[in-house]
Amino acid sequence: MSPLVYVAAIGAMARRGILIRGGRTLDALANVNLVCLDKTGTLTLGEMSIVEIKTVELSEESIASLAFKRSDEESVRVAKALERGSVHPIAKATVNYIGNGDNSSASRSSLDVKNYKVEHGKGVEGEINGEVFRFGTASWALECRRGNNSSEEEKVVARATEEHRSAGEAIAVLCSSSSPDATVFRYSDAPRAEAKDAVDTLRKRGQTVRMLTGDATASALAIAEQVGIEPAAVFSQLTPDKKLAHVESAREDGKKEENGKVVSVAMIGDGINDAPALAAADVGIAVCSTPSDAASSAADVLLLQTGQGQLQSKDTVMSGGSMSVI
Ligand code: ADP
Ligand code: MG
Repeated sequence: MSPLVYVAAIGAMARRGILIRGGRTLDALANVNLVCLDKTGTLTLGEMSIVEIKTVELSEESIASLAFKRSDEESVRVAKALERGSVHPIAKATVNYIGNGDNSSASRSSLDVKNYKVEHGKGVEGEINGEVFRFGTASWALECRRGNNSSEEEKVVARATEEHRSAGEAIAVLCSSSSPDATVFRYSDAPRAEAKDAVDTLRKRGQTVRMLTGDATASALAIAEQVGIEPAAVFSQLTPDKKLAHVESAREDGKKEENGKVVSVAMIGDGINDAPALAAADVGIAVCSTPSDAASSAADVLLLQTGQGQLQSKDTVMSGGSMSVI
């Protein structure tokens, strides 16, 4: 292609909120035949809100009775304190949550968190008043209760969450090293309006489409059904390393194929948990609000979205006649 064609194509895409790193990315895009899509924030809007908070007792008796305690304001305070350092959609929804007891000065004052850690694709951890808390996926959060039978405890949490996961909700679980409870936070997260059409269009163009998500299998399958991805193409509970390994092995397997069919992979994601897979793909495509978002530095293509979560479609990327090619 002549350089002018690249410039025209890159300019036309920029006007639609699609920023491309250089002309070679266009050639790579044309060769893609496997498209891997992240779920949360990519196929879904990622603009979550808390649907319900409930605390389950992790004791033997509660397995039989599944007795729920009332929503725990203290759990909300702890979760908010832990999520202050995270940019995950769950963190934003948690920090913005206004519960019934939030007018008291006690609930407004923030808790002091020590030994804070973010585990991408799993959740956040920190120590508050000498107690270690984890907030994230059920299995990872329950692991902080060392010495307890976490598989039995996982069953308790699974029974409390299964039907909500099957409705496509995201779940985060708060556990501590010393308390016998787990607090389950449920978050609504709807597929993007354009997600199903995008998946259909990719298929019609001969692309293989897969979902790669860190979320639990039931939530992943529910969203996959809504956007038209078949269960066999859903890969769930993937940490950032496993998303990376999936992309790398798809590329390797493609090279090995005897018929010489090369597999060229595009990875589309929004979070820092997608960054290694975005960097390893033939084309990494980041869905982001600004070009400085976490996933964007690892990507070759940026899909900018407006504040409403819709992907941008107006001429907002052109400024002063200069093209925003990065
Ligand atoms: P996806 O790959 O679909 O974008 P993530 O890997 O971001 O999903 O998240 C998977 C799961 O990990 C979430 O559903 C949640 O249970 C947990 N998780 C990840 N980050 C956080 C966080 N900051 N706070 C609470 N839970 C989290
Ligand atoms: Mg995501």
